[in-house]
Amino acid sequence: MDYLWTPWRYAYLVDADPGRRKGVPEELAAWPGDCDCVFCNLIAAAQFAIEHGVPVADAERAAHIVLRAEHSYICLNAFPYSSGHLMIVPYAHEETLAGLDRAAALEMMTLAQRTDAVLRQVYTPQGVNLGINLGQAAGAGVAGHLHLHALPRWLGDSNFMTVIAETRVLPETLDTTWQRLREGFSRGE
Ligand SMILES: [Zn+2]
Repeated sequence: MDYLWTPWRYAYLVDADPGRRKGVPEELAAWPGDCDCVFCNLIAAAQFAIEHGVPVADAERAAHIVLRAEHSYICLNAFPYSSGHLMIVPYAHEETLAGLDRAAALEMMTLAQRTDAVLRQVYTPQGVNLGINLGQAAGAGVAGHLHLHALPRWLGDSNFMTVIAETRVLPETLDTTWQRLREGFSRGE
């Protein structure tokens, strides 16, 4: 419970392969750019693929993006605290909430509402964590680009669900999580 947002997990994502562009999935490596930011690279690589004829579902699956809204996108955390751990990420590379465009900030809250609803529908959790860590000192793993975490929670978390409820929260592959949540978001459209 003390490790709700786990910056050390991001270290993997960012530093696992120094020669590779941060956040660019291998399947989307055709994108030629590099923003030196996991979140900017991820969405740019996905958009590039879509613009160059890759089916939307394939590009979004590769990037683990479940929704692209007007000002933000929603993607899976590659190193989740629990299955269903999502992040709402503004397209704008912005460090502080105060500095975020007002329309983007308002949309983030709307997306948080929708994410809450989808997580409850898909995972039937007993609670949901929603939170933003602004800056490295506050625990942000990707400090330069703000993002809102959303994850389903259970009393006792995965132990309870696995042992007593016989519902496996972890492990679930990211592809499975992506499929379930993408369907969850598409139902509300
Ligand atoms: Zn960025």
